[in-house]
Amino acid sequence: MGGCWALCERFQLPLEKGFGVTKIVVDLKKCRGTGACVLVCPQHAISIYDGFATVDETRCDLDGICIVACPHQAIHFEEERPNQPSRSGP
Ligand code: SF4
Repeated sequence: MGGCWALCERFQLPLEKGFGVTKIVVDLKKCRGTGACVLVCPQHAISIYDGFATVDETRCDLDGICIVACPHQAIHFEEERPNQPSRSGP
């Protein structure tokens, strides 16, 4: 793990607690296509397409640097949550 993980407890917590971060998601309602994420991504996994950030999941290593870099908070992790207990009634 590199980058923000060592600095930002907020983004480190999900992995330490065993939640599975599965991918990076761009909220198209918030993305302004500034390209800040493109500039910081060490894997060159983000490009701007039709004015919005697009993540190449085959290149992304889930380091979270783009999340911190986005000035519009448009990028976040998608986490796999443990299954909720099922409600089975009589
Ligand atoms: S999480 Fe890291 S590797 Fe993945 S798109 Fe963002 S900056 Fe690039």
